[in-house]
Amino acid sequence: MGRTCRGICQMHKAKPVPNRIRYEIGHKRCTFCGLFLSVEDTRCICCKAVLRTKARGKKDR
Ligand SMILES: [Zn+2]
Ligand SMILES: [Zn+2]
Repeated sequence: MGRTCRGICQMHKAKPVPNRIRYEIGHKRCTFCGLFLSVEDTRCICCKAVLRTKARGKKDR
């Protein structure tokens, strides 16, 4: 099954905060939808992709 962004993530979008505190305050990133979510779930409520819960390395790319 392919993943699909249905736009639900837009409704759970995290508030704009400095990137370095994103994960500290519980924001999780959906790499598929390409935005931070403020949810308890470990998976994106939108596309079901596993959310990234902590920063990795110095740079993403
Ligand atoms: Zn989405
Ligand atoms: Zn997603």
